[in-house]
Amino acid sequence: MYIDRDNGMKLNTDIYKFADIDNNHFFIKRDDLIPFSFGGNKVRKALLFFEDIDAGEYDCVVTYGSSHSNHCRVIANLCVNRNIKCHIISPLETSDQTYNQIMMQIFGAKITCVPVASVSTTIERLLDEYKKKGSMPYFIPGGGHGNIGTQAYVNCYTEIRNYEEKNKMMFDYIFFPSGTGTTQAGLVCGKIIKGGIEQIIGVSIARKNPYGREVIYKSVYDYLNENSYRYIDKTIDENIIFDDASIGYGYGVSDKCILNTIKTVMCEYGIPLDSTYTGKAYCGMLDYIGRNQVKGKNILFIHTGGTPLFFDDLAAL
Ligand SMILES: *Cc1c(COP(=O)(O)O)cnc(C)c1O
Repeated sequence: MYIDRDNGMKLNTDIYKFADIDNNHFFIKRDDLIPFSFGGNKVRKALLFFEDIDAGEYDCVVTYGSSHSNHCRVIANLCVNRNIKCHIISPLETSDQTYNQIMMQIFGAKITCVPVASVSTTIERLLDEYKKKGSMPYFIPGGGHGNIGTQAYVNCYTEIRNYEEKNKMMFDYIFFPSGTGTTQAGLVCGKIIKGGIEQIIGVSIARKNPYGREVIYKSVYDYLNENSYRYIDKTIDENIIFDDASIGYGYGVSDKCILNTIKTVMCEYGIPLDSTYTGKAYCGMLDYIGRNQVKGKNILFIHTGGTPLFFDDLAAL
């Protein structure tokens, strides 16, 4: 089977209104329903990486991520689909058993667990070893970071823009979980290129400022430069809002408030969230709206996927 992006893959994911609260109109964009491997932002990015991989002679993909990683699940799935090897480097610190991890194993990925401090040297060593053996490895940065991943969310911004034009409205806010910041960088680039007015607010699921914000700045800068767009540094600066108020105890660590929100959103709207990414970001969105007394606005939440993680949380719900 070969998945053809133009003929087989519906990437223009649905946007619809799901709630009116406090005069705010809440909309959701269902990137979790992209029809491959439970969807999500990692599928959006991975499909572009695989255009590159399919065009070459690669026989192996090396990438990085924890046992919670949707990215690693999706890459392992695309690799088995293409019949090429997949080697995942995973940090020992976040290696608890999850459904994503079980799926990576089912897809036949090789997983090497090392302490987080020795991840980058391990990746270099493995890439060297593959090349010495006459193999052609392709490296994908963790989470699908880099200009290719950014492109995927420039495309997503275009979809949002098309929705706004078709429905003769504009979103005042766009919220979503922000990890490596690639999703956010793509949306911000799209907004700068097309001259949008939405407030794009990445809710951090792990990183703190100023580091989290600096990484996004660099991604936006790299993308605009590589594609020869003209921009003003100040424009980039003004457009990056990275909210780190809701990271709690860090990546993958949940709390009662997040679990309650996941339960409520599932019961009321039938939308599954998870405690690592979307549930945390949804809580962060409500918190931001309360803190800043946002009222009477059109608010878009991008559901970035991670459906298998919803099931990891079921027992706790
Ligand atoms: C990886 C991931 C994110 C974060 O995306 P980045 O582009 O790394 O910021 C958000 N939501 C889900 C469900 C993810 O798997």
